[in-house]
Amino acid sequence: MILVFAEQRDGVLKKASKEAVSEGKRLSSKLSVPVAALLMGKGADQAVDEVKKFGPDKVFVMEGASLDQYSADGFAEATANVAKEQGATVILFPATTMGVDVSPRVAARVEAGLVSDITGLDVADGKLVAIKPVYSGKALATVKFKSDIQMVTLRSNVFPLEENSSAPEVTKVDAAGISPKGMVVSTELKEGGKVELGEAAIIVSGGRGLKGPENFPLIEEVARLLGGAVGASRAAVDAGWIEHSHQVGQTGKVVSPVVYIACGISGAIQHIAGMGSSKFIIAINKDEDAPIFNIASLGIVGDLFKIIPALTEELKKLA
Ligand SMILES: Cc1cc2nc3c(=O)[nH]c(=O)nc-3n(C[C@H](O)[C@H](O)[C@H](O)COP(=O)(O)OP(=O)(O)OC[C@H]3O[C@@H](n4cnc5c(N)ncnc54)[C@H](O)[C@@H]3O)c2cc1C
Repeated sequence: MILVFAEQRDGVLKKASKEAVSEGKRLSSKLSVPVAALLMGKGADQAVDEVKKFGPDKVFVMEGASLDQYSADGFAEATANVAKEQGATVILFPATTMGVDVSPRVAARVEAGLVSDITGLDVADGKLVAIKPVYSGKALATVKFKSDIQMVTLRSNVFPLEENSSAPEVTKVDAAGISPKGMVVSTELKEGGKVELGEAAIIVSGGRGLKGPENFPLIEEVARLLGGAVGASRAAVDAGWIEHSHQVGQTGKVVSPVVYIACGISGAIQHIAGMGSSKFIIAINKDEDAPIFNIASLGIVGDLFKIIPALTEELKKLA
C-alpha cells in the first residue's frame, strides 16, 4: 500500500496534501497497489470529502485528545502505527513544515529510507526513483532506495493536482494509545488571513534593494493585488525589515510558486536555492549584470521605486 500523510488544519486540507495524494494515485497505477490517505488531528473528519476528490482507495481518519494539538512525536507515532498495521511500502509526505518535522521520525520508526524535498518521482523495477535538487539546486540527484519501505517528502507546487473522484472506504483509527512525550498547549496564528509562503502560487519577494522596512508595503500591495504571498532575501531579514518566516533560500523556506517576482534581489546562490524551481521568475533589478537575470524568465532592468508603483497602478485597474 501507498500511504499519503494528508496534512489538514481545522478541517482544511493543505494544497500540498492534495498534490501528494494526486502523486500517490499516479504511483498506485504504476506500482499496482492501492493508495490510502491518512488524515490526522482536530478537524480530520471534516477533510474527508476534500481528500476523496483526489482518488484514494482508502482514507484513514485519526482523531483524539492526544492529537488535538500538533506534536511531532505524537503524529509520528500515529503515522508509523498506521503504516505498520497496513503494511505500507511507500509513504508520501508533503514537504510542508509539518511534513518535514514528522517524516524523519516516521522513517526511523518504520526503518524506511527517506528522500526529502523531491521534485520528481518515478518507478523502475518496482522501486521508486526520486529526483532531488542538491548543491543549492545546481544539480539534480537521482536517488534509488535500498530499504524495503520507501519514503519521500514532495516539494510544494511541483507535482500536478489531479482530481480523480473516488468512493474510498473510510476507516476511523483509534488514537487512544498515542502518548506524545511533549504536548503543545496552544498555538496562535500570527498573520491571520495572509497567504502562506510555502503554498502560494504567486510570491512577491523583496531584497536589500528595497532600502528599508518602510518600503515593504510596496511589495505587500502587489502581493495583495495578485493574491500572493510576500517573500524576502536574507539581507532584508537580517536587517530586521521583515520577519524570518518570510525568508526564501538555503536558510529560509524552499518555495516553488507558479510566479516568483524578485524585487531588488541580486540572486545569490543561497537565495536561488530556495526559489530556483519556480515556474516563471520575474526579476526587477537596476543592475543589468545581477545574477538573478541568469535564471529569470522575464528581466526588468530599472529602478524598482518606479516600476513597482507603475505595476501596482496597472494591477488596480484589473482588480
Ligand atoms: C550560509 C549562508 C546562508 C544563506 N542563506 C540565505 C537565504 O536563505 N536566503 C537569502 O536570500 N540569502 C541567504 N544568504 C545570503 C546571500 O548570500 C546574499 O547575501 C543575500 O541573498 C543577498 O540579499 P539581496 O539580494 O537582498 O541583497 P544584495 O545582494 O545586496 O542585492 C540587492 C540588489 O538590489 C538591487 N537594487 C538596489 N537598489 C535597487 C533599485 N532601486 N531598484 C532595483 N534594484 C535595486 C541591486 O542591484 C542588487 O542586485 C546566505 C548566505 C550564507 C553564507
